[in-house]
Amino acid sequence: MKGFAMKKIGQVGWVEKEVAALGPKDALVRPTAISPCTSDVHTVWAGAIGDRRDMILGHEAVGIVEQVGELVRDFKPGDRVVVPAITPDWDSLEAQAGYSMHSGGMLAGWKFSNFKDGVFAELFHVNDADGNLAHLPDSVDDKTAVMLCDMVPTGFHGVELADIQFGDKVLVIGIGPVGLMAVAGAAIRGASEIYAVGSRPNCIELAKEFGATHIINYRNGSIEDQVAQLTGGKGVDRVVIAGGDNDTFITAIRVLKPGGKIGNVNYLGEGDYVRIPRAEWGCGMSHKQIAGGLMPGGRLRMEKLLALVTSGRIQPGKLVTHEFEGFEHVEEALMLMKDKPKDLIKPIVYVR
Ligand code: NDP
Ligand code: ZN
Repeated sequence: MKGFAMKKIGQVGWVEKEVAALGPKDALVRPTAISPCTSDVHTVWAGAIGDRRDMILGHEAVGIVEQVGELVRDFKPGDRVVVPAITPDWDSLEAQAGYSMHSGGMLAGWKFSNFKDGVFAELFHVNDADGNLAHLPDSVDDKTAVMLCDMVPTGFHGVELADIQFGDKVLVIGIGPVGLMAVAGAAIRGASEIYAVGSRPNCIELAKEFGATHIINYRNGSIEDQVAQLTGGKGVDRVVIAGGDNDTFITAIRVLKPGGKIGNVNYLGEGDYVRIPRAEWGCGMSHKQIAGGLMPGGRLRMEKLLALVTSGRIQPGKLVTHEFEGFEHVEEALMLMKDKPKDLIKPIVYVR
């Protein structure tokens, strides 16, 4: 079986591997559409999770079930499915505690392209198929569905972590595909004003369409000054961080009102520490909360997000700006994600 892999830190290429063994509750899926993620870029070129040798990349795929284990109840070969980037072990204690994404250890629900081979392969393995696959209705095309694997659940998780309430003024830092879905999620959650931070023109246009009321271009002056201007110096109730770097927390704390909440979904690829500004954090007494999280995966989450698509509440297919026909283009798509040309939001590759 052919796959596109991280050969070592800083190097990618094609590999030939055995198809993974199928356990009684597992499935093998043949992808029909895949998409590279900014996280693949952090993993390969920043070495963010440490060295991985010949590990097949990718964690965003829709496809057709090829084979299932003898205990799988609800899926059979030929079924069209969407597969979440995070595929927890649902019988783990961490899942029972409400943190399925950390089943088996911190971040260990994130298996594809982290603890096992990912989805940029002719066939890939899914653990706990009944708990982690979702049936894909014919009405939802691959382009839309593949955005449900990671972009929608992660952007929405930023909104959940920031605990956005009716009428809140919200700052979304970063409007790549993840931040754009955070904008859409903040709008659904009832934010009164959404300040979206980014500079790429396509992203700005889509941010407005998804509900941003104001755009802050961080290249044209400090985010703090621009937020102060927009809020009459009062700051915002909530911040979602979906871009920037380790020092973005300094900005987020500075613009947040006392009692405000920050939801971070940015994957911090480099550096040892995140700094919190002492005085603006109320000398430790500001009630400004910071929560950071890996997206929740699993079947129920996928089915609920699919329901938002079929009811017309979200249109995540609009994130896709570059489409490739043929598995051989996966490297090109990944390099787009690395280089982030101005017209890019998200590329996908059809494998059919
Ligand atoms: P992109 O790189 O496409 O978008 C990043 C955004 O941040 C862009 O809008 C960019 O602006 C903006 N930005 C860059 N630098 C700064 C800065 N210094 N200050 C403010 N804004 C800045 O990323 P994605 O949307 O694909 O992913 C976002 C993050 O989410 C990544 O770190 C990714 O790895 C992570 N992720 C996390 C997951 C989770 O489960 N927690 C899952 C999936 C992804 P510009 O318009 O100029 O490009
Ligand atoms: Zn991802």
